Amino acid sequence: MKYYSTNKEAPLASLKKAVIKGLAGDRGLYMPENIDLMKDFVIGEMKNMSFREIACTVSDALFGDDVDKDMLHQIVAETLTFDTPIVPLGEQTYSLELFHGPTLAFKDIGARFMARLLAYFIEREGVKNVNVLVATSGDTGSAVANGFLGLEGIRVYVLYPKGKVSAIQEAQFTTLGRNITALEIDGTFDDCQALVKAAFMDEEMNEHSKLTSANSINVARFLPQSFYYFYAYAQLDRIGQADQLLISVPSGNLGNLSAGLFAHWMGLPVKRFLAANNRNDVFYHYLKTGRYTPRPALPSCANAMDVGDPSNFARILDLFSIYPNPYASICKRIAGYRYSDREIAATIRRAYEQYGYILDPHGACGYQALIDEATRQGKKTTGLFLETAHPAKFKDTVEAILGINIELPARIQAFMEGEKQSIPLGRDFAGFKKYFLNR
Ligand SMILES: *Cc1c(COP(=O)(O)O)cnc(C)c1O
Repeated sequence: MKYYSTNKEAPLASLKKAVIKGLAGDRGLYMPENIDLMKDFVIGEMKNMSFREIACTVSDALFGDDVDKDMLHQIVAETLTFDTPIVPLGEQTYSLELFHGPTLAFKDIGARFMARLLAYFIEREGVKNVNVLVATSGDTGSAVANGFLGLEGIRVYVLYPKGKVSAIQEAQFTTLGRNITALEIDGTFDDCQALVKAAFMDEEMNEHSKLTSANSINVARFLPQSFYYFYAYAQLDRIGQADQLLISVPSGNLGNLSAGLFAHWMGLPVKRFLAANNRNDVFYHYLKTGRYTPRPALPSCANAMDVGDPSNFARILDLFSIYPNPYASICKRIAGYRYSDREIAATIRRAYEQYGYILDPHGACGYQALIDEATRQGKKTTGLFLETAHPAKFKDTVEAILGINIELPARIQAFMEGEKQSIPLGRDFAGFKKYFLNR
């Protein structure tokens, strides 16, 4: 399979090249060129399959040409070593809990898959000294750092906005040491992302070192996220609840939503996707007006979605560019919602009172969007929201809202006891480049 750039000005790339380069030479995002649709009977059969079997089937369609099958299935098995249960909240509403991995957020899945796939290519090709640059608003850094920890021949640099990530998130990537370096940037997430993008475009830095990205711009992180959409559908199909399915996705950089749209594009029957934003509502605004106006990100209590210029927007436009009126098609397929911190708090309180279910602030946006969409449609269909983080990951916020004590899982406790090591840097590219070239 070849990968093209969303900007259409870079040459086609192999999977290996797309994974190692991250971003295409024309600053576009890589997309797979011609994916086979999954046949209806294959999707229908999934209700009798385990998550691992489903993920192997989907990954064969995506990566089967480029990676030895046994190896691919081993990568899948090593990625999915934790549960992803579906939990009902009242009638016809389900939470897909994607947060039972090592860093308590859904990003563990894409990050672990990517780390193993990259390690496979590095070993197969005898490549040395690959540097992974990753910008984080909190959760990506921890998932990537933990996914890559200890892998031979790979150094990871996590760029994160000073003072804008939670203590738990920070501990998860600043205390690891070994091949992981945390760079504390005096700026916002968008500044971090801009530094990473600029690094990929900088000739001198690329000549000096092999650079790749582990943000959801990387196909090896973005595509495996489609696995759990198939899995969730199959679970609901098994209990006769998959008809007219709504899937609600708490959205920031739009990688998760893009993966869902991709699954749909491969043939997964989904009636509509809901994109739930926090106050950083650039995508919501686009769906309302047709205009995409990036803005600096504002802090919110769902900080992993504090993104003002979501990278994967380019993928969504690209997926719909085959239609005569892409904007109208996007609006048909995706409904936008956005929630203030105050609304998020009210939702967390209500779900706890009604169902005893503790939402995290991101999942709360997804859950509320399902409720609001049902109200708008005037009828209820089955809805699934992606619960993207464990509430303990946002312990202070959730405890303050609910007035209860939330226990940290033991593995998170261990991070909190480690010693923070980070390198403070400004938000200017020159300073970052100087650090990188002299390290
Ligand atoms: C990253 C993240 C999101 C947003 O996902 P995108 O793919 O960036 O849209 C939502 N919730 C949590 C907990 C996250 O870590």
